[in-house]
This record gives sequence, structure tokens and C-alpha cells, in this order.
Amino acid sequence: MRQPRDTPIRTAPFDHPATPGWPEQQGALLLRGLATAIVHLSEVPNPGTFALPYAAPVQQALDGVVLTRLLMKADPPESVPQLVEWCARFPIDNLPFPTPTGIAPPDSRLLDEETRQPNRICYELALSGVDPTAQQIGRQAMEDAAELCRESDSPDIYQAFRELLVTRPVLTGRELALLPADGKGLEVLAAPLRALYLPVPASHLNRDTRTYTACGRCRTLLHPTVHGGLVCERDTCPARGAVERGREYRADDIDGGTYQLIRPLRQWVSEPGVLEQQLAERLRKYGAAVQLWPSYGSYGLHVRSPQGKSWAVEVKDWSSAALLGASTRPPTAGPPYDRCFWAVPRVRLQQDTGYRNRFRLHGTGPGSLQLELVGIDDLVGIAHRERAALPDPGAPTGHPLPVEGLF
Ligand SMILES: [Zn+2]
Repeated sequence: MRQPRDTPIRTAPFDHPATPGWPEQQGALLLRGLATAIVHLSEVPNPGTFALPYAAPVQQALDGVVLTRLLMKADPPESVPQLVEWCARFPIDNLPFPTPTGIAPPDSRLLDEETRQPNRICYELALSGVDPTAQQIGRQAMEDAAELCRESDSPDIYQAFRELLVTRPVLTGRELALLPADGKGLEVLAAPLRALYLPVPASHLNRDTRTYTACGRCRTLLHPTVHGGLVCERDTCPARGAVERGREYRADDIDGGTYQLIRPLRQWVSEPGVLEQQLAERLRKYGAAVQLWPSYGSYGLHVRSPQGKSWAVEVKDWSSAALLGASTRPPTAGPPYDRCFWAVPRVRLQQDTGYRNRFRLHGTGPGSLQLELVGIDDLVGIAHRERAALPDPGAPTGHPLPVEGLF
């Protein structure tokens, strides 16, 4: 059995930079810098009012694209708005300058055409950089929360904290202020929570009704589209059909404002957290003992399989198999384990039949060989077979394949 370090360290409770193993293909640095610039621009409080001088990552990306285009003897972008337009109009593998192949899913764009918001792949690329500023802010607050719970020997508070991030990505100011008094001990985490929930930007606002609308499926806020519609930022929700309107939040200050979990945590903690909770329930139906987010979030699930083996499991929902592969790193803290799985949602494997191969091709990091990439359903299948092979397997108590992705 592998023995991670006994002494808890400051762990990375969500996905980490994929810098090691990032292929040094032509255009890789430029594309990564451009993704970082787009993330910076998306965090401007009032989109459309870009102020000069641009933030350093934005200016660097513009300079890099201009230089590349001049060397190509082609017209450079005239401005940052034109560069932004390129990122919404052209798929990454068809941008008007060289980009690395096999990194982004086919036809994926840095910016969503409908909402002009960064897509999942944009954040994945930005996170792979050496200065993922916004992402670092989220990681630090997560580490602070884990440390505070560890110092007060309060695993239950940490569990309540993770459930909060999964189930309540949006809060009114009043709800956020009252969290510490809800009886779950979250007052210990008041400071990290203030860093993780920030006021909702104007890009979510319906200017006619002065409201924000949550997705009826996943509870994150919907984005207005350029055509007057609404769309959910989680790609699994639009795939399930027409948008479902959920709770409405008033923009005016009646409820103390509206706050949402910062984007990196919505993408890398809240969304996979839903899947981790579902996976735990499915594995338990086959006799596995499951602990979610053990040792203050050292990894996603510690599983005692039906045949008594220990598994370390993390749900990883990355659109880029290459970038996920480049970030392979088995857990080095938390409960010991015999096998380590990264479990991928079904939709990723269906959309990209080469996902597993691309992951392996780029998975050259330390410990990558001991890490098993599986579909979430495949992992449930392993538990199913282990249970069935027992002398007295008993009968599973539920259907083996409930729908992924919903509360
Ligand atoms: Zn949704």
C-alpha cells in the first residue's frame, strides 16, 4: 500500500498548474498568455470600459500576437477589442497565428460566442501558466480554510465548508453574513469565505429587470447572451436541453447584494464536487465505504472497495485531455491507498474518443504511471464487479448508472 506523508501538509484542494510536461510546441506560450489575458479582462468590473494602460498580462499578450503577426507578414490586431473578437470568432486551432496542436478540443474557443465569457478551456490554459493570478487567489483561500479547520481539529466544519461550495455557489449578502451563525461552525472560516464569494459582476445582470437568474439545474448564475437569451456556464447543463430558470436574485441592495463563488472554484471545486457526491452514493450501493474530501481535502474520495482495497479517487472534469495529462500527480497526503483513480465524466469521453490516449501522451509527470484514468461509470463498474465476485455479494440496492451532473 502506498504511504503518503503522515504529516499533513498545506494541500492543493483543487486542480493545480499543469506546467510540468506542457509541450514546448510553437505557439504554446503565446496561447497560454492569451488565455491569461482573457481571464484578466473578464474580471474587469464593468466590461467594455477597458482602461489604459492594460494590465501587464493583457499588454504582453497583445504585444506577443502583434509581433507574431508581423513576423508572418500579416496584419496585426489593431486593438485589444479586436484581439478579443478573434478569441470569440476563431476556434483555438484556427486562430490567425500558430497554436499548438492537440491541446484544445476541436472547435473549442477561448471565449464563448454567445456570452463573451471565457470558456472552460480558457481557464484550463490560464491555470497552466506560471502566473495564474486569479486561480492562485482561490487556491490560497482554500488552503487557509483547510488549515483553520485542521488547527481547530474540526473535520466536520471542513465537510460543511465543502458541501457549501458544492450546493450554494450563489448567496445573497445577507445569507453570506449569516453563514457563521448557522450552527455548522463556519464562523471559523469567515475570512476565507469572504475571499471565495465575491460580488456578482455586471456581466450577469438583466438590465431590464435588475435581476440575476440562477440555473434551475446547477444553481450557478446564468449568463445573458448577445441575442437576449440566457445560458449556463457549465457545459453539461445546455447539453440537457432548454435552459431552466432557477432562483432570481435582485441586484439592488435589498438583500445585501449578490455574491458568487469565484470562477476557478465553481469550475474546479463546486462542479466536480457534485459528481464526487454522486459517485460516493453509487459506490456505497456496492458495499464500498466512502469518505469525501478526507484529511481536510487532501483528495476527493477515500474508498474502501467491496474487496477491502483502498482507493484514492478524484473527479477531474477538464475539457483538455492534454492539459489534464500534463498535471498528473497522485495525492501525497491523506489516507494511504492501494490504487489511485482520476475519474472523468462520461461526456468528456464521449465528446473526444481520443481523450484517454491524449491524456497518456501528455502524462509524463511524477507518479503518472501509478495513476489510472477511468470514466466515472467505469469506476462504479469496478466496484460492481468486485461486489459480484464476493462469495455472498448480496444485491445492489440501486440502479448502477444514475444520471451524472445534477443535484
Ligand atoms: Zn447549470
